[in-house]
Amino acid sequence: MSFTDLHLIEPLLIALEKNKYTIPSPIQMQCIPHILNGKDIFGCAQTGTGKTAAFALPILQLLESKKNPEVARKVKTLVLAPTRELASQISDKFREYGKNLTFRHTVIFGGVSQTKQVAALTRGIDIVIATPGRLLDLMQQGIVNLDAVEYLVLDEADRMLDMGFIHDVKKILAKLPVKKQTMFFTATSPANITKLAATILKNPIHVNADPISSAPRKVSQKLYYVQRPNKTALLTHILKSGHVPHVLVFTRTKRGADRVAKQLNSIRIKAEAIHGNKSQGQRERALQGFKDKSIGVLVATDIASRGIDISKLSHVINYDLPEVAETYVHRIGRTGRAGESGEAISFCCAEETEYLRDIQKLTGNKMEIISKHPFA
Ligand code: AMP
Repeated sequence: MSFTDLHLIEPLLIALEKNKYTIPSPIQMQCIPHILNGKDIFGCAQTGTGKTAAFALPILQLLESKKNPEVARKVKTLVLAPTRELASQISDKFREYGKNLTFRHTVIFGGVSQTKQVAALTRGIDIVIATPGRLLDLMQQGIVNLDAVEYLVLDEADRMLDMGFIHDVKKILAKLPVKKQTMFFTATSPANITKLAATILKNPIHVNADPISSAPRKVSQKLYYVQRPNKTALLTHILKSGHVPHVLVFTRTKRGADRVAKQLNSIRIKAEAIHGNKSQGQRERALQGFKDKSIGVLVATDIASRGIDISKLSHVINYDLPEVAETYVHRIGRTGRAGESGEAISFCCAEETEYLRDIQKLTGNKMEIISKHPFA
């Protein structure tokens, strides 16, 4: 199947060609026809499955086909996302896919001055991609009007709930027109998510890509048993081997992320930490440095890393194992994306064996144990 078979319009096809997308991903094949047909979607998909294009392409096409001068430059599409990074990435994708169309989009998130965001909104905008807190703030100031919204996307809804955005999300939803088409994406579907989806969606089509219970294919998983105090020495040993030049390292805590980055820098391995206590500017600089490879090691906590889209990420290291097994699958999903192969390396100390058991239960124990290392 090609994108032409999905009946996408020429301006989108040209943009996709430019992006070198040739074959739609499974979630795109499943979503695009239904969204074009006006259906609500409940999508179970992680980042890395191509879900952004799965909703952005048909939304752009619908906006184009229903162009109405009366609602030109009013917010017709609202995308809610849990983090600034994810919102920015979605915004980048709308720019790429929509570059042969004339819609204006903007991204709204907290932690930065609202001046530019307000200016973009008052100039008139078709598509808003936002994190819930700042959007609600601007709504309460009377700066953003959502009366004309026709398409609503909730991306990474599970994470929005985990991050405590449920009340903000509900307040925003209450201000939207009743008649609209809604696309709801989540990586996991615990009870609170299905309950929320049931209150929002009308006869949704359920799509499922890359179920959370299976680790992404093409990612080889390695496990090092190591005592907690030796973790940094083991990390340094692996980084100095030269096989792992570009790596996302996960720690459980913000303090841990800072400590690991500092220790690596002290031995001249360029590393940056990103987590919730860093300013927006610091996070963006770190991410940009990592993307352009001037920084080899990005040390992150789960929330900060969520949704980060770095193509061709070859390695992920779990410096600390996550307490929740699904998080392991999210983490290693950062590597081996879009057909690339990847390697996930995990450290496990005595205190973490319980977490390891849960992970192995969820993923079917595909980890290779590396017993020969200096800190075994
Ligand atoms: P997402 O899951 O939306 O974050 O997308 C993951 C990555 O896959 C992004 O870097 C996209 O640019 C890329 N991508 C999305 N759809 C396709 C496709 N059909 N072919 C190749 N790459 C794609």
